[in-house]
Amino acid sequence: MAQPARRKELGRGERVLPGVWRLRLPLPYPGVPHCNAWAVAAGDGIVLFDTGMHESGSMGHLERAMEQVDLCVERVRLVVCTHGHPDHFGQAGTIVDRTGCEVWMHPDNGHVRRGVEDPDAAWERRIEVARHSGVPEEPLQAYAQARRESGSGLSRFVEPARDLVAGVEVETDLGRWTVTETPGHAPSHVCLFQPERRLLISGDHLLGRVSPYFDFGHTPDPAGEFLTSLDRVEALGARLCLSGHGRTFTDVQAHIEANRTLVSDRLSRVVEVLRERGPITAFDAVPHG
Ligand SMILES: [Zn+2]
Ligand SMILES: [Zn+2]
Repeated sequence: MAQPARRKELGRGERVLPGVWRLRLPLPYPGVPHCNAWAVAAGDGIVLFDTGMHESGSMGHLERAMEQVDLCVERVRLVVCTHGHPDHFGQAGTIVDRTGCEVWMHPDNGHVRRGVEDPDAAWERRIEVARHSGVPEEPLQAYAQARRESGSGLSRFVEPARDLVAGVEVETDLGRWTVTETPGHAPSHVCLFQPERRLLISGDHLLGRVSPYFDFGHTPDPAGEFLTSLDRVEALGARLCLSGHGRTFTDVQAHIEANRTLVSDRLSRVVEVLRERGPITAFDAVPHG
């Protein structure tokens, strides 16, 4: 098993319910030390919801986490990605190469595909969006340099075998999981809901820590999309959330309301500062939001 060189954290596995395992995988991001992949029993194998990020030694973490709960990569029958960010989709290519399984993801995944097919153009676009938003040139260039050196976090882009859109179901031993399209955090974001047990695999749409992040520059109004997605998830009535980072949590409704309040408070503060100061860039508005 490949050993990670830079960090002490290792992949860890734990059973959270009969037939449901949390695979906690380390990340190189400051302030976001881990992500979760969720393994759910399905016949003679498992469905793996999200994959962890691809980097040196990262498959070793997934293998270690699986070994701790008597699973192994070879038992993965299907990979279902909540969205295309590297910490959720990054190792899909490696897992497919080892198992021959399919990957399912939402079709609005151009934000991922473009980054893999033409990384330079994708970076230029991202930098341009930041420049238009008022980010000063010096930190912008430093950021661009650091991120170029850090790699994409994806082993490769895997063409999804099935589009994860409303109406699609994922079969497991715990029953069927339905797809709810939840753009906002990323255009490709979906949540998976198991209605009899009221379990929600929420990816990064709902996290234990309320800290919304919007993948900006791909769609006109990610914050508005996020609010609509909160309404859709609220209507499901989930009682236990298996999120993309951190521990499971049960007060799903309170988390939905806290996210709404945070977005609404930030928006009204930005509107207020625009009234006071006149037109300013997004970058200059951030400290006030
Ligand atoms: Zn994400
Ligand atoms: Zn994430």
